[in-house]
Amino acid sequence: MIIFFIFILLCQFPYGTAQLTPMKIAVVSGYGSLEPEMQQQLQNSLKWFQSSFLVEKSKNPVEIQDIYLRIPEYQKFSIVLVQTPIHRQNLNFQDLKKLLEIADFTVFVVGQDPKRCQRDQDLLAEALPIVLVPDERPPLAMMSICLQNNPRHQNPSLDSRFFYDLFRHEILHGLGYGLIIDKSSITHKPSEKYIWNHSNGLGQPENRHFLDFDTFALEFTKNHFSCQKMKGVEADGERKNHLNEYIFRNELMTTHLEATGNIFSWISVGIIERTFNGPNQWYHINRTFIAPEADQYTFGKNFGCDFLQKSCHDFIKITEKRSPTLKIAPFCSKNHNQMCYKLPDSQKLYKMSDKDCEMRRVIGDGIDKGGQQRRCPMIKHLPAKFNFVNCPPPPGG
Ligand SMILES: [Zn+2]
Repeated sequence: MIIFFIFILLCQFPYGTAQLTPMKIAVVSGYGSLEPEMQQQLQNSLKWFQSSFLVEKSKNPVEIQDIYLRIPEYQKFSIVLVQTPIHRQNLNFQDLKKLLEIADFTVFVVGQDPKRCQRDQDLLAEALPIVLVPDERPPLAMMSICLQNNPRHQNPSLDSRFFYDLFRHEILHGLGYGLIIDKSSITHKPSEKYIWNHSNGLGQPENRHFLDFDTFALEFTKNHFSCQKMKGVEADGERKNHLNEYIFRNELMTTHLEATGNIFSWISVGIIERTFNGPNQWYHINRTFIAPEADQYTFGKNFGCDFLQKSCHDFIKITEKRSPTLKIAPFCSKNHNQMCYKLPDSQKLYKMSDKDCEMRRVIGDGIDKGGQQRRCPMIKHLPAKFNFVNCPPPPGG
């Protein structure tokens, strides 16, 4: 009875007297403003963080000295640009002291390495968390941006929402997503070997890695894919920084951003909420605010364990046999015969035929050493948002 009573007390006061408030966030740059639209989307992403994240005020404020020590290039700046969710203003570096006292999290833009940006033209930005007190949440991060790889230069019509997703993705890393290691190893899962069968039947040995900190995310992920025996949340490569691009596609924390937008799903909510060392949770997500976006994540819904554990070729064959009514777009399948699709706000029907199918490289492959390219049959020209409908019968018949 006493044990029961203590348990109830613990449940009611899990964080002692901790008070959670919206995370106050700022970005500081010694390199001036970004291109206007990029800077605006950076600001929008900060608004999003302040609305989504709740944190406890740190008892150890950041000092100017910490910046000099951990981000030495800031010793050379006397004036910096400060961007908050509502303001943008130049400040004397020494006046940052006040900002650091108020802010819960401050991102410092650091100089890019032009050679590194040139070597990897897909590299747009990188961010790293800076932990000052062991087991406490990082109050600082560094972020570098490869301005020369701006995808707008190749594709001027790219929606500026792309930068909003880019900054949300990077700042999530800055908070620790995929970059903080579980020191206790409680959530660590060993990698496993499996065979990817190609379309010609040849098998290729592959490795599967899992993200740390999946305790909260796994339950939702199992239900999303309808696979109760799922072992972990699959990562992209052995560094475990991202969600696997093949499995999670347009989720915000995969390796590639889509021109049509990426979604911060309940999977990432679970990962970032469980990303902490020490006894206290670092981040709490405002569910009411995040739900309209997170609920839109539908990629792979009900695809089942075969999608998660086998090659796309096996997955398609098995699904056609066992679940002939399951729609598995964007993969080509007999299950889509006689199906048409339409755009959400339109009545116009698009019919699919066998000719609308192409072998496409699955992005995110070949990250592991020795990994070969893997290709899957995908529906050509399928828009990001569509609804399947039965095709009308042919006229006259
Ligand atoms: Zn990333």
